[in-house]
Amino acid sequence: MERSLGAGKQKEYVGFATLPSQVHRKTVKKGFTFTLMVAGETGLGKSTLINSLFLTDLYRDRKVPNAEERISQTVDIIKHTIGIEEKGIKLRLSIIDTPGFGDAVNNTASWKHVEDYIDQQFEQYFRDESGLNRKNIQDNRVHCLLYFISPFGHGLRPIDVECMKALHVKVNIIPLLAKADSLTQAEVHSKKLKMRDEIKQFGINIYQFPECDSDEDEDFQRQEQILKDSIPFAVIGSNIQVDSKGRRFRGRSYPWGVVEVENPVHSDFLMLRNMLVRTHMQDLKDVTREIHYENYRAQCIQSMTRMMVQERKRSRN
Ligand code: GDP
Repeated sequence: MERSLGAGKQKEYVGFATLPSQVHRKTVKKGFTFTLMVAGETGLGKSTLINSLFLTDLYRDRKVPNAEERISQTVDIIKHTIGIEEKGIKLRLSIIDTPGFGDAVNNTASWKHVEDYIDQQFEQYFRDESGLNRKNIQDNRVHCLLYFISPFGHGLRPIDVECMKALHVKVNIIPLLAKADSLTQAEVHSKKLKMRDEIKQFGINIYQFPECDSDEDEDFQRQEQILKDSIPFAVIGSNIQVDSKGRRFRGRSYPWGVVEVENPVHSDFLMLRNMLVRTHMQDLKDVTREIHYENYRAQCIQSMTRMMVQERKRSRN
């Protein structure tokens, strides 16, 4: 409620309208962190897409294993961290790579390492939170998993279903249709429909974009609906700058034409980047904290209580 001095007089302000800028200044000073995981079989364009998304070269020292090495390969977990600064805002971005995912002859437990890694980060956070130095906790929880689906199959493969089902209670999954330039527009459309159907049919809970409030403006509501209808995002990546018709851009050059990574007519790359960085990064972090981490925490507390009760019973006997 605004306090006024009466009719005709100037309004007096207490001054709390500056609260947002106080919060803004404090968070800007602290900087932001975000942890993104990528999974999908080798060769689907994961490293290329990450480089294209964040305009970096994160994979300079990467060694791709040969077929023999991949037969019995287990999933490694590799963390790359980079600091990005834009207009004075600092972001510490961690990319968790999962080389070897889905590459072995037997992939039954491919996602087990990924699941263990996510749990370990929750466990560490839980321990830090209950410890003495709660002020300076480093948050390494995984906020989002970009799950790459092959464009060459007929929809989801069994490993995609199994993996997403095992991880959907622990992390925000965003499915991607990889290498979309290898498909025609009609194929992209029908594959998306099929994959969305399968996601529903198999009860996979991917990241849900927040519902729009009814007072949001129409344009915003339309944009949100387009986002929801574009899942899985059809993406294209490239580490190369192409010159075409007097312009220079990140793209892929073929004998029959040039594909532009950031052209919304060619792929959903820009939509994915805008969503991840500009519009939904905070929501991905909120859902991680409020739903996935809370689930983990509740389970931990439950099993600790159960153990204490058993211990007490045992000591009484
Ligand atoms: P990763 O093993 O999943 O990290 O895959 P890479 O990023 O190393 O890409 C494997 C190969 O696919 C490389 O030769 C890339 O140039 C190529 N590639 C990457 N992204 C795309 C894409 O969007 N479309 C096409 N056609 N090829 C791609």
